[in-house]
Amino acid sequence: SSKVIGLTGGIGSGKTTVAHFIEECGFPVYYSDDRAKTIVNDNDELKVKIKELLGEESYDENGLYDRKFVAEKVFNDKDLLHQLNEIIHPAVRIDFEEWLEKQTKYLVFKETALLFELKLNKQCYKSLLVTAEDNIRTKRVMDRDGKTYREIEAIMEKQMSEKDKIKLADCIIYNNTNLEDLKEQTERIIFEIE
Ligand code: ATP
Repeated sequence: SSKVIGLTGGIGSGKTTVAHFIEECGFPVYYSDDRAKTIVNDNDELKVKIKELLGEESYDENGLYDRKFVAEKVFNDKDLLHQLNEIIHPAVRIDFEEWLEKQTKYLVFKETALLFELKLNKQCYKSLLVTAEDNIRTKRVMDRDGKTYREIEAIMEKQMSEKDKIKLADCIIYNNTNLEDLKEQTERIIFEIE
């Protein structure tokens, strides 16, 4: 069976960019957060549970998950967020296991923003962290999303610190320079894991 490398990083660290480089190298990547976004719309059992927890407004008139409503509802309510995650995460885990069964490469990657927070690294062969200085990440996200400095800072404050993630990671990519360097580091790390 395939070895699973957990790929993670804080907001704006560059983990999605690294995931794309990994795919270019021919290794499959499971995008946990993207899959979660699909699953909340596809899985009826999940829909019922989420509506029970957060209200009918969690889904719009077309039956689609209202991400903004849900985000606002749980943003300052740790307990509610925890309960929501208790509903969504098991469904994503099952979806990942199904995906993994179909993989034939000896090495596959699982991109998860909350790899360490949810202790999912324990279920991986190794963890790969993409990290960068806070001010660099902030600037990149401002350029990408048009979010304000304050908004990004608020998100960062809720995430595990880079220092703590660095302590937990098996492999680390420091993404403080340019995309060429990022690609080179990614290729080197894949080679080293092999
Ligand atoms: P999020 O968790 O917010 O989705 P992420 O960790 O997936 O972020 P990316 O989306 O990969 O991060 O990168 C954030 C932004 O910074 C993107 O617009 C990306 O193109 C850009 N970026 C990433 N790394 C570099 C780099 N080394 N040089 C220049 N731009 C970069």
